[in-house]
Amino acid sequence: MDAGSRHQSQPTATLHMTKDGKRSSVQTYLADSVSAKNPDGSKKFPLDIRTNCLVSKVLFDHRDHGKPKAVGVEFLEGKSLYVADPRFNKDKQGIKKHAYASKETVTSGGTFNTPQILKLSGTGPASELKDHSIPVIVDLPGVGANLQDNYGFGVVNKAAMPFNVFANCTFGAMRPMSKNKENGIYLYGGPLKFSGFFPGYSRVTEPSAWTWGVLKQHPRNHGSKAGTITLISDNPRAVPRVRFNPFAEGAEKDLEAMVESVEIARKIIMNVAEPTGPFAEQEPGSEVDTTSEVKQFIKNQVFSHHATSTCKIGADDDKMACLDSEFRVRGVDGLRVVDASDFPRIPGSFPVILITMVSEKASDVMLKKYDKSNESF
Ligand SMILES: Cc1cc2nc3c(=O)[nH]c(=O)nc-3n(C[C@H](O)[C@H](O)[C@H](O)COP(=O)(O)OP(=O)(O)OC[C@H]3O[C@@H](n4cnc5c(N)ncnc54)[C@H](O)[C@@H]3O)c2cc1C
Repeated sequence: MDAGSRHQSQPTATLHMTKDGKRSSVQTYLADSVSAKNPDGSKKFPLDIRTNCLVSKVLFDHRDHGKPKAVGVEFLEGKSLYVADPRFNKDKQGIKKHAYASKETVTSGGTFNTPQILKLSGTGPASELKDHSIPVIVDLPGVGANLQDNYGFGVVNKAAMPFNVFANCTFGAMRPMSKNKENGIYLYGGPLKFSGFFPGYSRVTEPSAWTWGVLKQHPRNHGSKAGTITLISDNPRAVPRVRFNPFAEGAEKDLEAMVESVEIARKIIMNVAEPTGPFAEQEPGSEVDTTSEVKQFIKNQVFSHHATSTCKIGADDDKMACLDSEFRVRGVDGLRVVDASDFPRIPGSFPVILITMVSEKASDVMLKKYDKSNESF
């Protein structure tokens, strides 16, 4: 979100973090922080970044007979140790090392990997941990449950001729209210061919393509029918099993809103005059005509890119709540989770800004704690 942007007054979701018109990210923030200097040239923040490290588990100390206390992490040092990395080589095992925390440990492995790390550490559903012979530190049934994602897909068209007029065009956006009174459909258009994310998707060029991207925000498959992240093995180098369970709950209403967005996209595109028009619809394609055909197309096409909520914050009496309101993992001391897995319910919009806000809040909570006790990190 760029506070100075003239686009802020438009009724649109925030898609990216930008500063002065340029994309910004966590990487930018970390790079700026690590290189920041005091006027005397000394390092401003006590931050070290170590790359090529794969965390295998959180380490706990049980000595004071109270709650187990997180004291740091075990990690493997080496390049491309995770099997999802295309450069992965199973013979390169990495070197096992430990990093200890002077105060607290924070995991920010994201919606898929934070639950994996917590489970490998013994903080997760007891029965699943036992299946993998992982000693149970605390039984937290909610870790890896409650996986949610917006539904995304594209309505792809081909114009009669390339768009010279769009030579330097950026995305425009509009957000219609759906008939079932949901403010949860986001329809955004651009001169590109975009059916979803796949290796090489960003290199697809088609000078006469126009895609209406559809995002169904706040889909209804949450709660007990939400998706899951479960362990395939106790090997930290393996990927966890990801089950989105799309359309397991509330499918009819969600699909109704998405069918309506296809109708809107088609209506707009049908009215484009020559010479740019007429457009030929490539996806779903003119053969996908009836409501049930469009619904089936949507079910086949929806892709994930906003996964959240697998380690949710929740009330004391919610047995599926993994975290309290201060991001602390329940049942242990000295461990917090700060990433997209915290949201009890998917926030709906494109999530990066909201994750940044959560991170700012978590920083405030931690700084307040240590300011109060007059300690510093
Ligand atoms: C293709 C795609 C496009 C997207 N486009 C947008 C967009 O336009 N706008 C938007 O708002 N959102 C977008 N998103 C969503 C957004 O990128 C994510 O919601 C966001 O990055 C999640 O932030 P996070 O901090 O929770 O996790 P992540 O950004 O996934 O960060 C987790 C980090 O932990 C590291 N990690 C994981 N496990 C370990 C381990 N064991 N040891 C060490 N490190 C580990 C990972 O390498 C990663 O760097 C997109 C997502 C995808 C996949």
